[in-house]
Amino acid sequence: MSTDFIEKMYRELSEAYPYRVELHAHTSPASPCSEIPPEVLVEMYAEKKVDAVCITNHYTPALMRESGKSREQAVADYLEDYYRTKEAGEKCGIRVILGAELRFVEGPNDYLIFGIDEADIDAFYDYMGGTMQDFRQNWHKDGAFFLQAHPFRNKMTVAETELLDGMEVFNMHPNHNSRVGIAAEHIVREGLIPTVGTDFHHPGHQALGLLRAKTLPETSNDIAELLCSRDYLMETGGFLIVPPPDCEKE
Ligand SMILES: [Zn+2]
Ligand SMILES: [Zn+2]
Repeated sequence: MSTDFIEKMYRELSEAYPYRVELHAHTSPASPCSEIPPEVLVEMYAEKKVDAVCITNHYTPALMRESGKSREQAVADYLEDYYRTKEAGEKCGIRVILGAELRFVEGPNDYLIFGIDEADIDAFYDYMGGTMQDFRQNWHKDGAFFLQAHPFRNKMTVAETELLDGMEVFNMHPNHNSRVGIAAEHIVREGLIPTVGTDFHHPGHQALGLLRAKTLPETSNDIAELLCSRDYLMETGGFLIVPPPDCEKE
């Protein structure tokens, strides 16, 4: 293949999927492990010409149920970072979308969820003390998309395919080894939908893994629909990655 051909192909793909979306980002103080206040996050992403950012702060037993706060306060504090990011995003033209990174008392696995709203953030509180399986069997919402974050990092247990809609294959957090090659092989074998995200926590790491979309997603539901469609690209380090086809439907 000539370089010209590759350049042309890249340009065409890039033009067909112009919108750049972050699916995995943390703000401080809602995620105490993040160094980035909401207002700073949107500035950093505006500089990187990102169009939409999903705020997926940690929602864990330790941060919510064991925090010493009332349920109302824990939920309000969780949502406060999202509202601050959204307001700051409006000023610099970045669409800010609500997601969450859930953890259950059973273990250290993390799960990203989209297609949710503020009422769901409150509802999740009831499930923290149980298992992921219990959550998936008893919490139902049309159009929600549930995926395991960085499933092949140390200390993670790879979740059963039947309990997931997708998996985060390309977790680009530079301080962790997410074994993306093994993750990619796994999702193809299992027919799961792959996602990409920066898992943004620290200055300098912004926008390392982005989704590329044909139209701008406006809501958490739009993100869930976009992932289900498999009609997107994944971008990291200037590479564009095309997700594998849904083999079951062929
Ligand atoms: Zn974190
Ligand atoms: Zn995360």
